[in-house]
Amino acid sequence: MDLNEFRKHGHELVDWMADYFEGIENLPVRSTVNPGEIIKQLPADAPDEAEPFEVIMNDFNNIIMPGITHWQHPGWHGYFTANNSYPSILAEMLTSTLGAQCMSWLTSPAATELKENVMQWTAKMIGLPDNFTGVIQDTASTATLVSLLTAREKATGMSTNANGFYNFRPFTIYCSTEAHSSIERAVKIAGFGKDYLRKIEVDEFFAMRTDKLRLAIEKDIRDGFEPLAVVAAIGTTGSTAIDPLDEIGELCKKHNIWLHVDAAWAGTALLLPRMRYMIKGIENVDTFVFNPHKWMFTNFDCTAYFVKDKGALIQTFEILPEYLKTKEGNTVNNYRDWGIQLGRRFRALKLWFVIRTFGVKGLQEKIQNHLTWANEFAGWIEKSKNFELLAPTPLATVCFRLKPETWLSEEALNQLNAQFIEAINLTGKIFLSHTKLNGKFTLRLVVGQTNTEHRHIEKAWQIINDTALMFA
Ligand SMILES: *Cc1c(COP(=O)(O)O)cnc(C)c1O
Repeated sequence: MDLNEFRKHGHELVDWMADYFEGIENLPVRSTVNPGEIIKQLPADAPDEAEPFEVIMNDFNNIIMPGITHWQHPGWHGYFTANNSYPSILAEMLTSTLGAQCMSWLTSPAATELKENVMQWTAKMIGLPDNFTGVIQDTASTATLVSLLTAREKATGMSTNANGFYNFRPFTIYCSTEAHSSIERAVKIAGFGKDYLRKIEVDEFFAMRTDKLRLAIEKDIRDGFEPLAVVAAIGTTGSTAIDPLDEIGELCKKHNIWLHVDAAWAGTALLLPRMRYMIKGIENVDTFVFNPHKWMFTNFDCTAYFVKDKGALIQTFEILPEYLKTKEGNTVNNYRDWGIQLGRRFRALKLWFVIRTFGVKGLQEKIQNHLTWANEFAGWIEKSKNFELLAPTPLATVCFRLKPETWLSEEALNQLNAQFIEAINLTGKIFLSHTKLNGKFTLRLVVGQTNTEHRHIEKAWQIINDTALMFA
């Protein structure tokens, strides 16, 4: 492909993108392909000869697109959202055009300084105290691992990197039974062993019980373990429960335990000052993560990770082989030392484009709408005779199930709801995913897609009711 063709196809692709968004509502949200259906259309060997762009695009349209599940569809209500937005997409085009490696200040001065700046903006936008420093990571999973590794290094007097942690009593980590699977994975990778992860019981609202946490910590101390870290969830993945951060923080302070906050989805709601009750007690927190790549209209990947002790983070990950030495040294930020990866994409650019294009007010307005509409939907569920809510709706995720007026056993209800959600998703007009809460099969309706408007929530309610008729 030469420069002229690049220019021509580039323009065509921008038109393709705009057409995609224009027609997205007519596409089935969830792809209807069966396993293996895509790969059997793809040749087993790479082409020896160059292929024209038109032929590649043709296959993209005919083979790849039918196998795409449309996360940017306004009828997306599954899992959590993985939003993009027009400014974010345009910035990603620039990022890939520059193809810059942002490992050190020298290799990308502007990327380095923009990241510092945009992370400062973000910290202020969500109400974090100003003793937090931010860095962009690829995912919340990575950020949580980075946090636990830093905690480990710090608790061993910065000696684990050199000597391992053989000479220490076994460390124990704490999270709730509703915490995200990435915490258990981080505990495994960091070498603590998952048998040393204490999953603390939750209350009736699925938030961590501080009394149980205290008992677990005290027991571990008595039994000769070394309580190392607590991971508190602000917005669990199942039901968006909010762990009581202030109480947890007091306990951590008392026992000198590291405190990491996983607010992967819900962190974006902190844009609204009235939601900052969720981080009451933030002054006792060591590290905090949330994902602009979920709810804040910035396409994957973009995780905002904030730390109080920047020095401990850098000391944990620092490497300086001869070929990475620069004359600026430590007078500048070299983000290669702020996490696991060496190479880094220029991810600050898309966040900068998004924040500036929406403005803080524009972002707040969208998030406020999502919260309002989700609560409106929860109200409809509550009033209806055929459905019941299975968790509170503190944010924009509604947990509910179909519950006909005739009595059914819990097992029958679980089966009925598994069939019900499949029938909803088969309509292709909306997409929901499920979880289990107290053993109950739970439908989750997330309100938060960039392109979702109020009419889409009304339509979702209509589709859910129409589908329910099949099960009455
Ligand atoms: C989505 C989610 C994660 C994982 O996010 P990644 O960025 O995909 O690693 C972690 N914790 C919670 C609470 C989540 O909702």
